[in-house]
Amino acid sequence: EETPASPPSDASKGVENLVIIGSGPAGYTAAIYAARANLKPVVFEGYQVGGVPGGQLMTTTEVENFPGFPDGITGPDLMDRMRKQAERWGAELHQEDVEFVNVKSSPFVIRSSDREVKCHSVIIATGATAKRLRLPREDEFWSRGISACAICDGASPLFKGQVLAVVGGGDTATEEAIYLTKYARHVHLLVRKNQLQASKAMQDRVLNSPNITVHFNTEALDVVSNDKGQMSGIQLKRTDTGEESVLEVKGLFYGIGHTPNSQLLQGQIELDSAGYILVKEGSAKTSVDGVFAAGDVQDHEWRQAVTAAGSGCTAALSVERYLVAND
Ligand code: FAD
Repeated sequence: EETPASPPSDASKGVENLVIIGSGPAGYTAAIYAARANLKPVVFEGYQVGGVPGGQLMTTTEVENFPGFPDGITGPDLMDRMRKQAERWGAELHQEDVEFVNVKSSPFVIRSSDREVKCHSVIIATGATAKRLRLPREDEFWSRGISACAICDGASPLFKGQVLAVVGGGDTATEEAIYLTKYARHVHLLVRKNQLQASKAMQDRVLNSPNITVHFNTEALDVVSNDKGQMSGIQLKRTDTGEESVLEVKGLFYGIGHTPNSQLLQGQIELDSAGYILVKEGSAKTSVDGVFAAGDVQDHEWRQAVTAAGSGCTAALSVERYLVAND
């Protein structure tokens, strides 16, 4: 009886040049550049966002600000194109989550449920996750009235000229509120505490804007819809008196921050107090030689597909230089 051939063991392949963790714009762009440089990158695509590879853009519809697509492109279509481009140049893609990383050893060790890979360099491109309020009807209205990105969605026909609300009291929420005044008829900022946490300059801008009403001691309880099933308002509760009311709005923007997906590296490389990977200014280098970071996992400020892609390119080119120098 013939025994089936066993799959080639990864151990027999020795040490890989580069492992890339993540399949958003940062991960795939790094994969395209590294594959074209003949580094034969091994990519762990993961499926943490919506159970599929491709990252945060898999959860959106139209992307209107990625250069090269004047008529817009859907998030899944854009990510599918990046994936194909990485594959075409020979990146080795695995739809697996990385479960363990050791960058204190030499070579580094990366492990998923299915395999263990040893490598000389790593690019961390695991992205970030927008924090959600977990309202009862949140999933129903995600991308259909609820958004976590004013820059991405503010100009959408769904929100243009409408009355909108932003939740949060820090820098993200105040920036979203100010940005949305460009398009919205009026913006309500819902702040759970009795004061704003944003910088003084942002507080002044929000409090002095005639187009923004700040509601202190106020939390959102749920979305209210009309008989067509569209968002028509939000159920609010005063945190001081317990009084409930409905605010009529057509959109709700979350500005309560993001969680960088950096848990795998905790205790091994330098992170900031919010968990973002610290990179040396203007580069993709982390505190450990041979470990690079790209995209939202190291960027608490811009969080755009094109900035993530740009930093993925920088990371791959840095790896190339690093491997040559350490040959
Ligand atoms: P992500 O896209 O977050 O991808 C991270 C990847 O890492 C995922 O594939 C994830 O599965 C994987 N991963 C995480 N942990 C592991 C692990 N342990 N093992 C393996 N893989 C792992 N930006 C724009 O420029 N224009 C827009 O119109 C726009 N619209 C948006 C709409 C929505 C609803 C959201 C949420 C975001 C939007 N953004 C937009 C922001 C944009 O999506 C992000 O800035 C961008 O995706 C960041 O790319 P990234 O590669 O850093 O990470």
